[in-house]
Amino acid sequence: MTQPTIVWFRDDLRLADHPALREAAAADGPVIAVFVLDEESPGIRPLGGAARWWLHHSLASLADDLRAHRVPLVLRRGAASEVVPALADEVDAAGVVWNRRYGGPEREVDTEVKRMLREAGRAARSHQASLLFEPWTIRTGQDEPFSVYTPFWKACRRAPEPREPFPAPRGLSGPRTYPESDDLDDWDLLPTAPDWAGGLRAAWTPGEASARRRLRAFLADDVDDYADARDRLDDDGTSRLSPRLRWGELSPFQIWHAAVETRRERPSAAQGVETFLSELGWREFAWHVLYHSPDLATENWRRRFDAFPWPDLDTDALEAWQHGRTGIPVVDAGMHELWQTGVMHNRVRMVVASFLTKNLLIHWRHGEEWFWDTLVDADAAANPFNWQWVAGSGADAAPYFRVFNPELQAQKFDPGGAYVGRWAPDSGAFGSPEPIVDLRETRAAALAAYERVKRSG
Ligand code: FAD
Repeated sequence: MTQPTIVWFRDDLRLADHPALREAAAADGPVIAVFVLDEESPGIRPLGGAARWWLHHSLASLADDLRAHRVPLVLRRGAASEVVPALADEVDAAGVVWNRRYGGPEREVDTEVKRMLREAGRAARSHQASLLFEPWTIRTGQDEPFSVYTPFWKACRRAPEPREPFPAPRGLSGPRTYPESDDLDDWDLLPTAPDWAGGLRAAWTPGEASARRRLRAFLADDVDDYADARDRLDDDGTSRLSPRLRWGELSPFQIWHAAVETRRERPSAAQGVETFLSELGWREFAWHVLYHSPDLATENWRRRFDAFPWPDLDTDALEAWQHGRTGIPVVDAGMHELWQTGVMHNRVRMVVASFLTKNLLIHWRHGEEWFWDTLVDADAAANPFNWQWVAGSGADAAPYFRVFNPELQAQKFDPGGAYVGRWAPDSGAFGSPEPIVDLRETRAAALAAYERVKRSG
């Protein structure tokens, strides 16, 4: 019997454009898929509640898709550096293949697994799949990582075009006997008491098939107007692909080439496609920054910002923000949208983040953690990167102290009030709580606090 190849699935829950699965399919033996719920390896960040919900359903969908090819998805729990080599021994695998991860602790785990497998005489190979450009390939003229988006993205656009996506492999075959697997339900990824996931169920269908449908619909119907519509709160003009990318139900290569193909077929889509690609560029940038600064979720990227004089945490204000009870309608609307659907419009994410850090003077880490727990697209790079960008401690061209005015933002991007009316219907003249802070006074106080950072450098 030919030895099997194990495909270790992680943030790439799909069959198409999966280079590791493709390699396994091309090998002689059967294929065994494994997913490891690793809550033990040092430094690996435990998933938030909304992410766990998504993971459950996306794994169920992946297991169905693999089963159609008679390939088992083996579920195991524990430190990956123990679980993966042990499974390889158990089935006497020829090797283990996977797609690369870029977070610091994840890279350490993967290096260790690779070392152990090779020591045991098995193959261990990793592939590029979740980033269009490898972080070590995009560097400044001084051979340093970029710290500013615009030149970063220009350098990416000068680099060789991302490769074409691969189709789902044909000719997959499973082993004659299946290794033991945990039962997905036993992982308790879904909330029970209380079950708060009703809004998520109404908003989303996790899984590769639904991700592909969404990509097609966006490119057919919405991309032409994307450049203008993406900022409008009252218009569903964005792709809503962020959880698909987060969980790898689609790869950025598939999205890139589908968008470029749309432009080829329909020149009217050109501007929208270019803007859309540049948003994928922000995702790349966030990951490249994380690759070079693995502590992005806990430390100020600009160390000078350590001098910022955060006051003691006001837990009442933090809770009012978390539960959408600040009395600032667009902020409250955003926080309700987040709670109910697991996502929030990008512009509102900026507004609520600015409100938390500048008007409430609450450390960005508290906001980042709340988003981490409540977003279905909670992303180890994009989330801290963007929080730091808004807070003023992040990778930014001219990191001046940006304070969003929520009222002006709402007037400009939700002029008819449709977004606020939808997500914070109580914010009408009679139902609204009083604002918990005065926007002008708190803005002035934040600017004064920022002087400390300026003086420190
Ligand atoms: P589209 O406008 O259709 O954009 C297409 C894709 O480009 C997105 O799916 C996303 O993958 C990428 N993208 C767009 N904008 C950004 C950006 N600013 N940074 C990184 N990637 C981007 N995005 C996440 O995916 N996960 C997060 O945890 C996350 N946290 C955020 C926290 C804050 C405070 C802010 C201001 C932004 C955050 N973002 C995060 C970025 C952005 O808000 C979302 O990617 C976007 O709203 C997702 O909607 P969409 O898929 O319709 O986006």
